[in-house]
Amino acid sequence: MQRSSPRASAPSVFRSRRGALLARLALALALAPLCACPTVPKTPPQEPVVVEEPGNPEWVREPMSWRKLELIEQWLEVDATRHSPELVIEAKLQLNEGRLLFSRRDIENGAAPKETLQVRVESARKGFEEILADPAASAGARSRAQVGLKGAVALASAPTGKGVAIIRRQQWNARAPRVSNLTPLKGAWSRITVHHSAESTSDPRGGSLEDSAGTVRIIQKYHMDDPEHRWGDIGYHFLIDGAGRIFEGRELDWQGAHAGGSNNQQNIGICMLGDFEKRAPTEAALKSLQVLLDDLRGRYRIPAERVAPHNTYGTTRCPGPALTAWLKKYK
Ligand SMILES: [Zn+2]
Repeated sequence: MQRSSPRASAPSVFRSRRGALLARLALALALAPLCACPTVPKTPPQEPVVVEEPGNPEWVREPMSWRKLELIEQWLEVDATRHSPELVIEAKLQLNEGRLLFSRRDIENGAAPKETLQVRVESARKGFEEILADPAASAGARSRAQVGLKGAVALASAPTGKGVAIIRRQQWNARAPRVSNLTPLKGAWSRITVHHSAESTSDPRGGSLEDSAGTVRIIQKYHMDDPEHRWGDIGYHFLIDGAGRIFEGRELDWQGAHAGGSNNQQNIGICMLGDFEKRAPTEAALKSLQVLLDDLRGRYRIPAERVAPHNTYGTTRCPGPALTAWLKKYK
């Protein structure tokens, strides 16, 4: 919870309502929304480019599989120089298309650790870049490499894991923000701060969706209407209840109002519903916090050291000792 009330929302640079709406639209287009379904361009189906001929290496006959990728890697290391540059480029294309294909599958199924996926997607990206820089690459090869590169870049910025289910503003009946009192995000998100709401309205174990939605609405009303605040919207970007439900707060187009003054810059605010001065959040709430933090960090490339409890930024005790200890251990 915010203690003092620095008016976090500087006067808007957008004078007219239309100007504000246009600016919002531009921001909305520029920033990918947090959602469970990353939009990643699909690679078109591969066409058989290399025909089977006597003397061609074994990988040519192999259908797309991990074994094929291994064969190509070995061949590139040992035999490639004895073959035509076209075949070498074809091998590199198939190797990196395979890396991308299997990464996409693993992300959909949550089947590989994110570090492994990052390394694999990065290898694919570099591989496609190499092909594009190779003067021997034909127009066809270059266009496949372009498609692959696009896919690798999109995959690198997509959240890893299965995504996060978010209860959207319209689902909890949020009031419309006062856009003129909000500050657009400047730069990229680079840190995350965790709070507790320090209220006793919310059910410690979560209660019903409607109960928690009611608490979130009370917090929004407090932040928007309280004479000490009068902010443009709820201060936090996300709120998590005792049952582990994650609520969308202030949209990520806007800087938050939760850590005080300039501490809000490029800082995503997450609030755990409840008062954790004397008790700890539920397991379900902590599990959702972990998933949300992992997702946001993957999406915005925020290192674990930049995830902090509110008390890092001031004299507040927020978010209480148990959650502070949990965050110190978070990686
Ligand atoms: Zn706080």
